[in-house]
Amino acid sequence: MRELEAVETVGVVGAGTMGSGIAQVAAVAGYDVVMRDVKSEFVDRGFDTIRSSLDRKVNSGDLSDDDDADAAVERIEGTTELAELGEADLVVEAAVEEMEIKQDVFADLDDVTDDDVVLATNTSTLSITTIASATERPELVVGVHFMNPVPVMKGVEVVVGEKTDSEVVELAHGFSEALGKETWESDDKPGFVSNRILMPWINEGVRAYDEGVATKEDIDRGMKLGTNVPMGPLELADHIGLDVCLDATETLHEELGDRYTPAYLLKRKVDAGDLGKKTGRGFYEYD
Ligand code: NAD
Repeated sequence: MRELEAVETVGVVGAGTMGSGIAQVAAVAGYDVVMRDVKSEFVDRGFDTIRSSLDRKVNSGDLSDDDDADAAVERIEGTTELAELGEADLVVEAAVEEMEIKQDVFADLDDVTDDDVVLATNTSTLSITTIASATERPELVVGVHFMNPVPVMKGVEVVVGEKTDSEVVELAHGFSEALGKETWESDDKPGFVSNRILMPWINEGVRAYDEGVATKEDIDRGMKLGTNVPMGPLELADHIGLDVCLDATETLHEELGDRYTPAYLLKRKVDAGDLGKKTGRGFYEYD
């Protein structure tokens, strides 16, 4: 296994919400980054996200000045070429949440990277063990589940697949900590710790709203005031994306049974294209 001390270049697969965030925090931590997406406009959009996030960090005093932000951006090489990930000493995959795509990506990574390079996935709900089975190195595959938005959220869930080597688990913790994060560990069971508990909480919030238990505002207010969370379930669903919540809940439903049946209103909103903040309307409306 390539040790953490030998990691200079981090490969990131996907330049979307999560991939761009992971590329940013890795570059700010001093790593060189190769960020790959399938189209150059997606790579460009990833850089736009990174620049505006770094601007906010400079304005809030989290980053000392523009030079640090510029230096971080310069450490990131954007590409659509798979082969360029061959330079990476460690790869974090953050492509879309579909098993077939993840397995294709991991089979490709297995081909283009050196044999001792650890391949991590940012999957929210899919099995690490199944993703790893697409490679010849399942012992070097691990879950490194960053939270959204990556530059803001402190937590990373390290997920241990059936064949993940214990040294790889340690590397996953150490790498996350090198990016300024704090970790916890989960076995490779559906939804891990985070989404196994979070998704039914959101789903039940949607059901409670649909069944007229309270207004949406009171459901969110009740949970914030009553359980000391920063966002209620409906606000948080809008923030994550209702489609993302529905996909995750459907995966949990398939794996764990009826207690995870998606709320009818969640499906209806996704069918209507009201996906939350990203479309301007979910349970609430946004400018
Ligand atoms: P996204 O749709 O914003 O970005 C995914 C990107 O991957 C897209 O730009 C897409 O073009 C790209 N992509 C698809 N196939 C690719 C390939 N073969 N090679 C390179 N790039 C490819 O999705 P996201 O929200 O960033 O989610 C990415 C992963 O992170 C998913 O597995 C998701 O479950 C997980 N995740 C998401 C969140 C969240 O709140 N959004 C939180 C934690 C984990």
